[in-house]
Amino acid sequence: MSGNVHINRRRHKYSERELMRLARRKKKAAFIRRIGRDRLINARRAFYLICLLLLLIVGGVFFSQGLKKKSPSGDIVKYEHYVSNDMKHKADLALTVTPSPTPTPLPDVSGIDITLIESRYEPEADVSGLERINFDKLGNPADIEYLKGLTKNGHVLEIIKGTAFADGVLIVNKTFPLPADYIPAGTYLGDLSDVEYSAYAVNNEAYEAYLKMKEDAEAEGLDIHIASAYRSYHAQSDTYAMYERRDGTAGADTYSSRPGHSEHQTGLCFDLNSVSDEFADTPEGKWIDENCWKYGYCVRFPKGKDEYTGYKYESWHLRYVGTELAKKLYNNGDWISLEEFFGLPSEYPQ
Ligand SMILES: [Zn+2]
Repeated sequence: MSGNVHINRRRHKYSERELMRLARRKKKAAFIRRIGRDRLINARRAFYLICLLLLLIVGGVFFSQGLKKKSPSGDIVKYEHYVSNDMKHKADLALTVTPSPTPTPLPDVSGIDITLIESRYEPEADVSGLERINFDKLGNPADIEYLKGLTKNGHVLEIIKGTAFADGVLIVNKTFPLPADYIPAGTYLGDLSDVEYSAYAVNNEAYEAYLKMKEDAEAEGLDIHIASAYRSYHAQSDTYAMYERRDGTAGADTYSSRPGHSEHQTGLCFDLNSVSDEFADTPEGKWIDENCWKYGYCVRFPKGKDEYTGYKYESWHLRYVGTELAKKLYNNGDWISLEEFFGLPSEYPQ
């Protein structure tokens, strides 16, 4: 100890460097006196907190990169990228989606093979025994065990355990829902029983047609990709609830479907590219509008058809119906809706 004291007391010649250090120390002491030690400690704490936050943000970005899924067709999409037309709320949704309860088996719709849509699209020759359905008195189709009759323009509507088919084509709209436990079989992604939503769960036949469409678009220098496809009843329930909170029931109903009423639960449809109004004016959007019917797809909510479909124009939402029907719906460039074609309503039960 005494040795140290001795050294400290020794006359010392300061070097330039040491003088600067002493000056800095003095300056620092004066600074602390001026602003107060507590404030300095608080400032330090804030600094560490900011560092921690930055670290968390960087970590989060890396984590979300890890969630990206690469499909064999070469498209890269985000798994949670399934919202209808407002991407701003993607983050909210990712947080609110709750896991579905254990799925129960599909309702027995044997005899109705939705994977063979094209071959099923054959209006029945003999409709003489069938009566016209009065949709005003239909009640909730979800409660109907079995019904077969004619629509207002003579197509055959069959409701089997709450699920509607017009000339064999599965119909999902505001009038006709899917049962909550309806999970499409035979999709590109396979078993969906534990999948809430998926960009790549699309009916196999529809997916084959999509790949051909994508290939042909690519040959013309266009880039189309699926942004959002299958959505379970429960995922739709969360999506709709979020929009309803934001825009009210009437507002949300113009662009989002109530659970069970979304076509995304069928595995027969998907949203393309930006999932936004801007898509219609892109070269891709224009090409899709003019060509998708050749691959069996229809623009499900055509422009100016709100009163029939119950939804505003969605240039990005395609539904697979097979080429024969798609050509009729395309109508030489003047799209008509499934509702007009089959003579069906699309209104929520009162
Ligand atoms: Zn859609």
